[in-house]
Parts: sequence; C-alpha cells; structure tokens
Amino acid sequence: MSDSLSIELTAPNGKKYTQPTGLFINNEWHPSSDSTKITSINPSTETEITSVHAASASDVDKAVAAARKAFKTTWRDTTSTERGELLYKLSTLVEEHKEVLATIETWDNGKPYTVARDEDLAEVAGTLRYYAGWADKVQGSVIDTGANKLAYTIREPVGVCGQIIPWNYPLGMAAWKLGPALACGNTVVLKPAEQTPLSILYFANLVKEAGFPPGVVNVVNGYGKVAGAALAQHPDVDKIAFTGSTATGKEIMKQASGTMKNITLETGGKSPLLVFEDADLDQAVKWSHVGIMSNMGQICTATSRILVQEGVYDKFVEAFKQQVKEVSVVGDPFDESTFQGPQVTKAQYDKVRSYIEAGKSEGAKLVLGDTAPKPHEDGGKGWFVSPTVFADVKSSMKIFREEVFGPFVVIATFKTEEEGLELANNTTYGLGSAVFTRDIARAHRVARRLEAGMVWINSSQDSDFRVPFGGVKQSGIGRELGEAGLRAYTNEKSVHVNLGTWL
Ligand code: NAD
Repeated sequence: MSDSLSIELTAPNGKKYTQPTGLFINNEWHPSSDSTKITSINPSTETEITSVHAASASDVDKAVAAARKAFKTTWRDTTSTERGELLYKLSTLVEEHKEVLATIETWDNGKPYTVARDEDLAEVAGTLRYYAGWADKVQGSVIDTGANKLAYTIREPVGVCGQIIPWNYPLGMAAWKLGPALACGNTVVLKPAEQTPLSILYFANLVKEAGFPPGVVNVVNGYGKVAGAALAQHPDVDKIAFTGSTATGKEIMKQASGTMKNITLETGGKSPLLVFEDADLDQAVKWSHVGIMSNMGQICTATSRILVQEGVYDKFVEAFKQQVKEVSVVGDPFDESTFQGPQVTKAQYDKVRSYIEAGKSEGAKLVLGDTAPKPHEDGGKGWFVSPTVFADVKSSMKIFREEVFGPFVVIATFKTEEEGLELANNTTYGLGSAVFTRDIARAHRVARRLEAGMVWINSSQDSDFRVPFGGVKQSGIGRELGEAGLRAYTNEKSVHVNLGTWL
C-alpha cells in the first residue's frame, strides 16, 4: 500500500491503527481517477476524521472489470470447499480485529462502542461463518420426469454482483451481502455509504489477508449518484443488491432495468408493534424500547409505531416513558454507560428534528423529547437528539405514516384485534412487525394477518442470520440471510437429458 493511500490515526479511545483511504480493486489500493474525496465526519464532535478516495464512473469500470476477470478465472476454478474455508478465515480475522473495527465504526457512525464490538462485530463474524458452512452445500435437484428422461438442475453463481449498502450497520450490511454472494461463487463490487466509508476499508485488508484471489471482492467508496448509479447501470454487472431508502430503491430499479439485472432490495419501514391487553406488560415495554431506541433508531425494522389495546394504554405509555428515561442514556458513544450516541449526520439530525415539529403541529401528545440532550447542555457539539415519544397519534398524521429513522416513536390505541390489525397494516411499508400477547392462538392468527416480511411474537428486533430477512409492499424485493439468502445469489439451470430415442 502506498503511503498516500493510508493514514496513521488515533481514535478518541486511544486506539492507534492504519486507516486505508483508497479504492480496493484487485486486492490493491488505488487513488480515485478524478481525485474526488469523501470527508468522514465524527458525528459526536462534528470534526473531520480523514478523507478517502471517491470512485468515479471509470473507477467503477475498473472494479467491474477486475470482478469479471476473477469470475472467469481464479474464482471459477476455486472449489466450493475452498470458498468456505476462505470465508471461515475471514470470519476469524474479523474476530481477531474486532476491537479496531468496532472503534472505527463508533468513530465514523456514532454507535455505542460496546454495541459495535459485542453485537455488530459478532453478527459480522457469525454471518460470514454461517455462509462459510453453506458454501459446499448449495445443490441442485433431480426431477422425476419418467423413464425416458433425466432432468436435473445446477445452482450457478449469478456472476458479478454490485452491492450498495447504507450507513446504519456499515460492516453488518457488508457481511449480509458478501457472505452469500461469495459462498455461491460470485464476485463482488461493493459500494459503501458515503456517510461511513472507513471501517469497510480496514475490512478489505482482511479480505486480502484471508487469501481471497484479486478481484473477487472490490470496495469502491463513492457518492450514490456517481458510483452507485454507475454500478447499478453497468452493462457488465449481473446483479444489484441494495439496502437503503425506498426512494433510492426505486431509482435503482430504473437504473438496473436497462440490462434487466437480477435485483434484491431491502428498503424502508414503519414497522408496527401491537400490545394486547393480555400481554406481559413489563416485557412488552422492554422489547418496545429496544425495538425503536437501539442504534439511535436507525434500523430499517425499527418498531416505530406502537399500537396498544385501550385497556392497558395509559399504563403502557407511562411505563414506556419511564423505561426510555432510565435506559436511553444519551452521550459519548465511547463511554460504556451510553445507550444512545449521535445521529449519523446533520441531515439525519435535521430530519428527526423536522418530524418533532410535525408531530407538535399535527396535535400529537409529546410525552418525551424536544429537550437539549446531555452533550448539548454545556454548549457541546454533535448530532444528538433526545429520545422522542409521541402518544395519542392518529393514523392520518405524517408522523404515523412516514419513516423517521431516529429515536422517535409514535403510540396509538385500538379497541379490537380487527382494528389493531387494520391500523398495523395501514402503511405502504411491510418490513418488520411485532405482537405481544399471552394468547397463543391470537399470536399466530395475528402473525398470519400482518402484512410484513417478518413477525416477532413477544419480542422485537430479534433477527438472526440463520433466518430469512426482507420485506413486502414498498419495503423490498427478495430475501437476505438464511438459506433463502443463497437463492438470491444463484441461477438455477435446468438440464434435460433424453434417455430414449426420437419418437
Ligand atoms: P440512501 O438510499 O440514499 O443510500 C443508501 C445507499 O444508496 C448509499 O450507498 C448511497 O450512496 C446509495 N445511493 C444513493 N443514491 C443513489 C443513486 N441515485 N443510485 C445508486 N445508489 C445510490 O439512504 P440514505 O441517504 O443513506 O438514508 C436516507 C434514508 O434511507 C433514511 O432516512 C432511511 O429512511 C433510509 N435508510 C434505510 C436503511 C435500511 O436499512 N433499510 C438504511 C439506511 C437508510
């Protein structure tokens, strides 16, 4: 690595490390062809961390060419067992480097360090190891079509995959996409979000160290409208996998349509959480809090609409308010007692603030929030928001309908199961959902009727890399994780063998 494509940094927690700053193509570091840079900002202090190279369309061409070459040569000749071993090695390296990876994640994104280290990085290593195990188990099938014919299928890799990811779980989203793609024998050009470009560059060095051949994994930081669009439109990219906003997802569909690419999309949500009168209220309160307030509310499946049956409504609102007050400690994400760090950028901070104003002007009841959070009390800096709770919210209100993507929740009430379901399904989204009840029949009945890709019964945000993840309606197309995640990265070819004679 040339010196100009890396920098020695010391993070706020004292951790010293070498930060790569280039584009990772062919297992080498390259500068941007037009010298464009992305400046990474610490959201806790609003100060600059460093700048990294941003890919132009011609840099994306280079990365795609490297991925194509590897797909047709070294990677095609690698056995499925070897692919599994490489993924396993990468997972082990992630574990060995988890403290520096978590440090970068916290510095660049603002998420609490202990969460980054113990939850995000465990998820990254776990997902890679899970797909390492799948690599030599991706099989076709034999179909019985009678004595005169043999019919079977082969599961083939799709080819060169463009992967465009968001900033809320920078390494997590990369692992969700890289794991199944590489297990199935694809090569990848990954474009991280411009808000969080750093941790994935450190991770790229681990990809090389694990022994992946050049060109199998390429990482091009860059702006969405430049590098993201170039990737989504590229004639030599076979598939686009995207996670981010619904608006951008629609744009990606248009861009990918020119060459009719295979696409999977994981987009926005406004996930409901229903609390019935027979629920364990203490559990419902704790899970509801985790469901919306963790990761600064920046979770696509955040259960951001809490719907409570009228008999327990007042009790729930009061207990939820107490839970937020006690647990949602806002502050320096490197401080171990912090539950909530800053929002990732000023744009996200402004967005949350604008919804607080909308809630007030629409006449919803502000139960908590709209005060200066702790770091601001002494004139401090950073994109911190007080956890915000609105009650008595009506389904016609903007704050009930639109995704806020912050520590911001709306609470509404319903009378009957039918009315609760209607309220829950009254959304253009369909990603996560949750139901709290002790009635086992009701739990499963409601789970079947919720218009969502995922339902949690008596929990929230309880996803697992072994279980399919994805949405319906405007929350996405296709599934990630679990065995289903592999289907998104293979084409099934049918082979017909004539065992008889012509007529
Ligand atoms: P975004 O959709 O704009 O960005 C996601 C990714 O898409 C980034 O890598 C970005 O560079 C890329 N991109 C942006 N415009 C593009 C284009 N025209 N062509 C190709 N690629 C493009 O999301 P954001 O700005 O990071 O966040 C905005 C909103 O998205 C959030 O407020 C939230 O509602 C939602 N979001 C959802 C998720 C999720 O996990 N579903 C994650 C992050 C953000």
